[in-house]
Amino acid sequence: MRREDFPILARKVNGHPLAYLDNASTSQKPKQVISAVSDFYENHNSNIHRGIHSLSEEATEMYEDSHVKVARFVNADNGEIIFTRNTTESINLLAYSLCLGLKAGDEILLTEMEHHSNLVPWQQIALKGGLKVRFARVDDSGAIDMEHFSSLLGKRTRIVSVGHVSNVLGTINPVREISKASRDNGSVSIIDAAQSVPHMPVDVKSLGCDFLAFSSHKMLGPTGVGVLYGKRHILESLPPFLFGGDMIRQVDFGNSRFNDVPWKFEAGTPDIAGAVGLGAAVDYLGRIGMDAVLDHGRKLSDYARSRLLLTPGIELYGPSGKRGSLLSFNLKGVHSHDVAEILDRDGIAVRAGHHCAMPLMRKLGITGAVRASFYLYNSKDEIDRLESSILRVRKVFSK
Ligand code: PLP
Repeated sequence: MRREDFPILARKVNGHPLAYLDNASTSQKPKQVISAVSDFYENHNSNIHRGIHSLSEEATEMYEDSHVKVARFVNADNGEIIFTRNTTESINLLAYSLCLGLKAGDEILLTEMEHHSNLVPWQQIALKGGLKVRFARVDDSGAIDMEHFSSLLGKRTRIVSVGHVSNVLGTINPVREISKASRDNGSVSIIDAAQSVPHMPVDVKSLGCDFLAFSSHKMLGPTGVGVLYGKRHILESLPPFLFGGDMIRQVDFGNSRFNDVPWKFEAGTPDIAGAVGLGAAVDYLGRIGMDAVLDHGRKLSDYARSRLLLTPGIELYGPSGKRGSLLSFNLKGVHSHDVAEILDRDGIAVRAGHHCAMPLMRKLGITGAVRASFYLYNSKDEIDRLESSILRVRKVFSK
């Protein structure tokens, strides 16, 4: 990885070099991804699948090549990768398509640490269909209470959907164990991998999950593209989520037959350039190696925790051991937005607020937190700057 690959990192913000520590929201993009997108528009732009002309064939090949690259990246088979708009849409697709087959009283099992994307779609479908959403408790260490989880996994549990890495606590959940328990129970297992696929090796076969969702924009790729992995035989049996062009095989006035997977779930013109950019992002991450990405993230996250632990007035959230590459905290007596605003004056970008996890915030007894989240281009120096800047915030507010 070369920091110079990321043009935006050369920027100054408020007169300081940018320290971009908001990667759990979205990552920055290397030149290789940016030029893959512009190369598509400059040299190959055309719609896919339909045209019998050279540009359309090139565009189709590039788009399909990205399906293959992404499949390889998470060890899925061809045809098991669906492109959506983002993790949120991937989970909405599942909530719609899976819940159509459920009956009132059937249960969906989540945890208390889910992002709204893996909570609201289930909640809303459940409200309409008389389904019940249950939540496995999060314990004081920031881990899922697995005894409670097992006690909720019962005869009526049809779907289990759990985040791999919490975007607030950084907890790495035991998703292999959860997938196995779900399988043994006859439930469908879903992993929200928005915060794991960008940061660690993820192998869907080894995890044993039925579905896994993630977003291109958090893993160096463009916005506007999401991924849904699904086991082929389940995808084939599921009804489509969106209907229209490209997802059909045969249409009559009375009814339609649908295309094969994955296209059955990719109605209309997709974000072709975005998918091509995601392919370039996967190439980039592959060259570095996801073990190296994980190792770097872990070192930064451990270093940040060790520094902030020493900072007076700081409350840290999440487990003290192995964590994703992020750290959430509050500075006593200071609103998280105020902290973020003062850090911004020093050129440090962090996120503050409820992080799309309001129920978890309530459980923690807070309304918001500051989150510093790291990626492969961040350094310990930037964490040192974060620490000094937080000390400055403390001074400002203790006056
Ligand atoms: N799930 C988790 C754990 C996340 O952190 C996020 C985004 O922050 C999402 C889902 C939603 O991702 P997107 O906004 O790309 O749909």
